[in-house]
Amino acid sequence: MKNETARSSKKSSSKSFKDGLETPVMYCPSVGPKRAQSLEKLNISTVRDLLWHLPRSYEDYHTITQITHLNAGQVATVVGDVVSIEERSPASRFSKVRHILNVQVKDATAYMKVVWFNQQFLVKNMHVGSRVLLHGKVELYDYLPQMSSPKVQVLDDNKGSDSLPDLVPLYPLCEGLTQNIVHKIIQKAFERFSKECVEFLPESILKKYDYPSREESFRILHDPKPDDGAPTSGAGQEPELFKQDEQGKVLQAGSPETPWEKARRRLVFEEFLLHQFILRRINGSRKKGQGIAHPKPEPDPWLDNETILNPDDKLCWPALFVRNLPFQLTDDQIKVCREIAQDMILPDPMSRLLQGDVGSGKTVVSLFAMLIAVSGGSQASLMVPTEILAQQHAATIRKLTQSIPGLRVAVLRGSAKAKERRENIEALASGEAQIAVGTHALFQEKVQFKNLGLVVVDEQHKFGVNQRQKMIEKGSHPDLLVATATPIPRTLSLTMFGDMDVSLIQSLPPGRPDLISRWTTWGKEKKVWEFVDERIEEGQQVYVVCPIIEPSEEMPQLPSTEEAFERLSETFFPHRRVAILHGRHSAEDKEDLMARMQAGEIDVVVATTVIEVGVDLPNATVMAVLGAERFGLAQLHQLRGRVGRGTEKSYCILITHPNIATYAEERMRVLEKTRDGFKIADEDLRLRGPGEQFGTRQSGHINFRIADPVQDGELLRQANQAASDIYQQDPDLKLPEHNLLKKELILAFNRMESYRPS
Ligand code: ADP
Ligand code: MG
Repeated sequence: MKNETARSSKKSSSKSFKDGLETPVMYCPSVGPKRAQSLEKLNISTVRDLLWHLPRSYEDYHTITQITHLNAGQVATVVGDVVSIEERSPASRFSKVRHILNVQVKDATAYMKVVWFNQQFLVKNMHVGSRVLLHGKVELYDYLPQMSSPKVQVLDDNKGSDSLPDLVPLYPLCEGLTQNIVHKIIQKAFERFSKECVEFLPESILKKYDYPSREESFRILHDPKPDDGAPTSGAGQEPELFKQDEQGKVLQAGSPETPWEKARRRLVFEEFLLHQFILRRINGSRKKGQGIAHPKPEPDPWLDNETILNPDDKLCWPALFVRNLPFQLTDDQIKVCREIAQDMILPDPMSRLLQGDVGSGKTVVSLFAMLIAVSGGSQASLMVPTEILAQQHAATIRKLTQSIPGLRVAVLRGSAKAKERRENIEALASGEAQIAVGTHALFQEKVQFKNLGLVVVDEQHKFGVNQRQKMIEKGSHPDLLVATATPIPRTLSLTMFGDMDVSLIQSLPPGRPDLISRWTTWGKEKKVWEFVDERIEEGQQVYVVCPIIEPSEEMPQLPSTEEAFERLSETFFPHRRVAILHGRHSAEDKEDLMARMQAGEIDVVVATTVIEVGVDLPNATVMAVLGAERFGLAQLHQLRGRVGRGTEKSYCILITHPNIATYAEERMRVLEKTRDGFKIADEDLRLRGPGEQFGTRQSGHINFRIADPVQDGELLRQANQAASDIYQQDPDLKLPEHNLLKKELILAFNRMESYRPS
C-alpha cells in the first residue's frame, strides 16, 4: 500500500508527498502556516480537502457582449480596441487616489469608457490599438456605458501567465482568503497532485453510468472549459432554461447532460458509494459476531401487573421501571419497547433505528432498553450531542429510576473537572456505574467499560457513522439503538442507514396541548411581545430564537441574540427576567442557565439554535423565532418541538421580514398548517429554494461534502445498488479490480467527518 501511494509526481522527493491526497495543505504551493490556518476554517486540512472544496458557481469571461447591448448593473465581458489612453493625478494631496487611468475602447458596435484608480502599472501593457478583454460591472455615465476597475487582459500581447481563463470558479471563502488566493492554491495543488486522484471506481461502473475519470471530474469542476456547461453567475446572464447551443437553438431544461453535470454526478456517486460500503461493513461485521443475549425481563412488564416486585431481583427492573413511571406509556411506545426487548434477548447484535417525531417520547423507550441491559449485568451508554442534553438526560434517568436500588449514572462531558472525570471513568471501568451518559467525551480512548452491552445514540444526525462505530467497539458486539427525530423521507431511511431495523413511534403521548404556529412580520412585533408578556404573567416561559449570535455587518437586517436580548430586556420586558444563551457560552454557563430555567427563575431566554435538539422544559410554552425565513422547514419543526411539551396550550410565532421569497413564505404556511413530521419532511424537499441546502448537509443526516441525500436521491439509490452488487460478488473486496476501491474505503473510514458538539 505504501509503495502504491508513494508513486506520485516526479517532484516526490520531498517528504510531504508520500501521503498523496492526505498531504497536509501546509505543503502545497502558495500555502504557508497563516493560510493553512485560514483554510482550516473552511475545514480544509489536506490536499484531498482542497480538491473537494468545489466552486459554487463560475464567472463567465467567455460570453462576450457587444457594447451596444450592455445594460446598467450587468456584469459582462467585452472585447474591444483601445482608442485613447489618458493618465492624470488628482490635484488634492489628501486624496487616496494617486493615479487615474481613463481609457476609451470601441468594438464593432459602440464606444465605452473604462476607468482604473491607482493601477498605473496597467499603462505599460496597453497602447492605442491594443485589443483588450474587459470583465466588470457596467455603469451608465452620461448615457454611455462605463466600467470602473474591470479585470483586464491585453489580447495582442498575451504573456500567458496572467491571462484570464474563460470561466473563473467562485469558491466559498472565509476571512483571510480571497477568491484569487483560493483559486491559485487549488490550481497549483491540482497541477501537482492531480496524478494522485487514483481512479478507484471499477471499470464496469464507469462504463455503466458513463462517468468521467476521477481526475477529469475534479478538473471539470475546478477548471471547466466554456462548453462543459458549468453554471455561471452574474447579472445579465441568460437563465439556464434559455441557453442556446452553437447553432443558436434554444436548449430546453432536461437537455442532454453536460460534461460538468456528469463530473458532479460522478463525485456525488463516489461519496455515496463509499458511505454505502462503510454502512455495510459496520452492519456486516456485527451480524457475524456473537452478540449479547440479555435476559428476558421477568415478570413481563406488559402482561403482569400483579406480581409483587422485589427490587433486589434485577430481572424485575424493567417491570419495576414501567410501573413507577409518572405516566402511562402510549401503545406505540409499548410496541417499540417490545420490539427492542425481542431483539435484545437474542444473541445477534441489535441494530435498530428508533424513529419518532419530536416529543414522541423516545427517551423513556431508550431508558427501558438500557434497563434490560443493566438487569442482565451489562452496562449501557447514551450518546448525546450537547452537554445540556447530557445533563438533562442524566437528571431524567435519575428521576425515573428512583425505585431501582444502586443504579449509578456517570455523566461524561468535555468540560468536567479532572476529579469528576477521573471518578466517572473509574466507575465505568470497574462496572460500579451501570449507565454512562455523555457527549463526544464518551468515545475517547481513556473511557473503558467493564462490559458494555448496549449503545444508545440520541439525535443521531449530529454524529458521524464512525463515532457510532467507535462507541460500539468499546464493548464486545453490544446492541445498538439509534434514536432520531430528523424526519427522513421514508424512501431514503433504509438507504441511509443500511439494513437497520426500524421501530417507529407514530403518535404523540396523549394530553399534548395544542401547539399553534403563526407567521407574522416585523410590523406586528409589538403585538407579539404583548402576547408573550401575558403568557409570562400566567407563569409560563418563553424561548426567543435568533439565527446568529451578534449583529452582522454584511447582513444588518438579520436578528441576533445580542441585539434581541438588549432590545427585549430594555424595551419590552424590563420587568421580566431575560437571559441569553448561545454556543459561545461555556458549558457551565449553559448548564447553570438551564437549571435556572428548570427552576422557573427565568422568564425569557434569547438563544441560538443551541436549544434545537432535545431540550425538555415542559413549562416553556411560547417560542418566537426571529428571522424565521433563515431556517429550513425541518429545522423549524425541530425547534418548535421545544414547546408544547407540558399541559398548557403552546405557541410558535415565526417572525420574518415582510418581503421573503415565495418558497420561504410557503414554509411558514406549512408550519402553520401541520405538526406532522413526515408531511414536513416531504414538503421540505419541495420547498427548498435554489441554493438553499439547510436540512441535510449543514444540520442534517450525515456530513457529505457535495452529495445531498435528498436532492441526489436517485444517485443514492444507484450507489446503494452498485454497492450491493459489488458486495455480493466480492464481500471482502479481494478481486484485483476492487483493490483500489478497498484502499479508498479504508481511507474514507478513517476520515469520515465527525461532528463536534457545541
Ligand atoms: P423525544 O422523542 O423528542 O426525545 P422526549 O422523550 O423528550 O421526546 O419526551 C417528551 C416529553 O414527553 C417528556 O417530558 C416526557 O417525559 C414526556 N412523555 C414521554 N412519554 C409520555 C407518555 N406516554 N405520556 C405522557 N408524557 C410522556
Ligand atoms: Mg429526545
